[in-house]
Order: sequence, then C-alpha cells, then structure tokens
Amino acid sequence: MKVTVGNDGSFTFKCPGCGNWHTLNTPDNVRWNFNGDVDKPTFYPPVICEAMNAGGIICHCMVRDGMIQFLPDSSHHLAGETVELPDI
Ligand SMILES: [Zn+2]
Repeated sequence: MKVTVGNDGSFTFKCPGCGNWHTLNTPDNVRWNFNGDVDKPTFYPPVICEAMNAGGIICHCMVRDGMIQFLPDSSHHLAGETVELPDI
C-alpha cells in the first residue's frame, strides 16, 4: 500500500523526496482525482504538490502508476528524478 485514504476522502502518501507526508484534501479543495489503486496510485492532474515545508524545501511532484516524479524545480536531492513511491 502506497497511499492511505482518510474518512474525509483525503489521500496521504510518504514522499521520498522531501521526506514529508503529503496529504491531498479533495473534499474542500477539489483539485485531484485518484485512480483508487492504493498499490499503484495515480493522481490527476499530474502536478499534485508544491509545498514549502518547515525546512524550506520545495517539493514539486506527480504520481503515476505508483511512481513519483519530481520536477526539476524541486529543491531536494530527487529533483528531476522518478522513483517508486515507498510502501507505507
Ligand atoms: Zn515531497
């Protein structure tokens, strides 16, 4: 399982790039669709998170078929790379 679905319909996954948990809140803020597969998640639209965490890291990524791709403007070590989303 790579993503958890909350009772409120939000999705949470562990980000291997910035090391944070990313939660996508769909009920209040309908921006993302989820393919429903917790083992091979895909979220649309592709760009799903662009956040500044407490450490000042910019994380800009997309999730497709269980893989997470980091856009080059991310400021962490996986910028520009695509890796498998870790199991949680
Ligand atoms: Zn991240």
